[in-house]
Amino acid sequence: MTATRWLAEYAWLPEHAEPTPDVLIEIEDGRITALTPLVGAAGPAAGVDVLRDATQLPGLTLPGLSNVHSHAFHRALRGRTHGGRGDFWSWRDRMYAIADRLDPDTYLALARAVYAEMALAGVTCVGEFHYLHHRPDGGAYDDPNAMGAALVEAAAHAGIRLTLLDTCYLTAGVDGRALTGPQRRFGDGDASRWAERTSAFPLTDSHARLGAAVHSVRAVPADQLRTVADWARGRQAPLHVHLSEQPAENDECRAVHGRTPTALLAEHGVLGPDTTAVHTTHPTSGDLTLLADSRTGVCLCPTTERDLADGIGPARRMADAGIRLSLGSDSHAVIDLFEEARAVELDERLRTRRRGHFTPAELLTAATATGHAALGWADAGRIAVGARADLVTVRLDSARTAGVPPVGAFFAASAADVDQVLVDGRVVVADGRHLTVDVPTELAASIEAVTPA
Ligand SMILES: [Zn+2]
Repeated sequence: MTATRWLAEYAWLPEHAEPTPDVLIEIEDGRITALTPLVGAAGPAAGVDVLRDATQLPGLTLPGLSNVHSHAFHRALRGRTHGGRGDFWSWRDRMYAIADRLDPDTYLALARAVYAEMALAGVTCVGEFHYLHHRPDGGAYDDPNAMGAALVEAAAHAGIRLTLLDTCYLTAGVDGRALTGPQRRFGDGDASRWAERTSAFPLTDSHARLGAAVHSVRAVPADQLRTVADWARGRQAPLHVHLSEQPAENDECRAVHGRTPTALLAEHGVLGPDTTAVHTTHPTSGDLTLLADSRTGVCLCPTTERDLADGIGPARRMADAGIRLSLGSDSHAVIDLFEEARAVELDERLRTRRRGHFTPAELLTAATATGHAALGWADAGRIAVGARADLVTVRLDSARTAGVPPVGAFFAASAADVDQVLVDGRVVVADGRHLTVDVPTELAASIEAVTPA
C-alpha cells in the first residue's frame, strides 16, 4: 500500500487535554508512521515544504471510535417499540420476534447495512455480542458457524474491523430453566459444546478476531462459567459478559446463589484484565471493589439503558475506583458514539444535580482507546506513531458544530457530522458518504425483509 499524507486542521493526540492544530499525519501500510505538529518547534517555514501532496482534513480529526457492544439485529427494532408501555422484558419479546426470522443471508444483508451505518458514524471497530448461532428450531446449520461467518463478512463489506464475541447462552434463567421458543437457536447444549463449535470457527480475515462472551448469569450455569473463561484465557481473547443490567437479575442471582452476579463471576474465574462487563448498571459497593481489584473493564451503553428504562450506572464511581470505561450502542436505538460519550457525563449530572464529572479527554478515551483494547485491538484508538491508521474527521462547520471550539466536539457533534473515516489507512467514508454501501437503502430493504407483518 502506498504512503499517504494528511494535514489535520485539528487532531486529538493521546494524553492531550484538547486537540492540537495543524498536524501532519503520515500513513503507510495501514499504520501511522509520522506525526508532525506544524505549529511550534517545526515552525511554519519548515511546514510549507513538508506539506507537499498532503490532503487537507478540515475539521477535527479523532482516533477511530470503538463500538464495544453491539447486537446488529436489534437495529431492526428502532422506532418500533415506542408505542406502548413496558420495560426491558416486554421489549425483549419484540426483539425475539425479529431474531426468529433471521438466517445467514438475511443477517448478512442487515448486518452489512448496520455496520456501514456505524462506519458513517465514525466507528472503526465493533464488538458483536453474537448469540444467534443456530436454526430457529435449535438445529445446527450445515456450517455451525454460518451466522457468525455472515457477521464477519458483513464487517468486511462495511470496511470496519470486528471482534466476534461468540456468546455462550445455555439457559433461560439463573435457576437453569431450559431455553424455549425463539431462544432455542441461542443454545449449544452445554459450555463444552459451545467451546467445540467456537474453536472450529475458521477465522483468517485480518479485519476480524474472535472473542468469547458469557451472555449473563441468567444464561450460563455457575458450574459452566469457568469453561468459557478458560477458553478465552487460553487464547488471550477478550471475554465479555452482560452484568447487572436489571435489578431482577441481581435478585434472581441472590435467591439462587446467595450472592451478586459480580461475586458469582469472580468466584468462577470470569473477571480479569481481558474481561469487559457490559452495563453494570446496578452494582453494589462490593461489586465495584471486585471489578476494580480484578482489573475488569466496564462498557456503558447509555442510550440503550435510557431506551430500556434500565437506570443509570455509577460511571464516576467506577472511574474513580480505577475501572476502565468503554462505550457501546448495544440495541442501536441510536448509533452515535458522541451521544453515548456525552451521556456518561450528562446522566451523572441528572443523578447528582452537579456538572463537570468527566473531562472531554476522558470521554474521548472511553470512546476510542479503551474500547479498542477491550475488543483485543490494543494497537488502535490513538493518533500515535505505530498505531493503526484509523482517523475520523468531524466537521466543525455544520449547523451543530459551527462556532464550537474543537475541545467541545463531544458536547456538540453528532454522528451526522462525521465527514471522513479511514480504517487501517483505507478511506471508507468521504464527504459524509459510505464509499461502497448505500446505507439508507440497504437498511430499509434488509429491515423490511425480517420484520413481522
Ligand atoms: Zn447487550
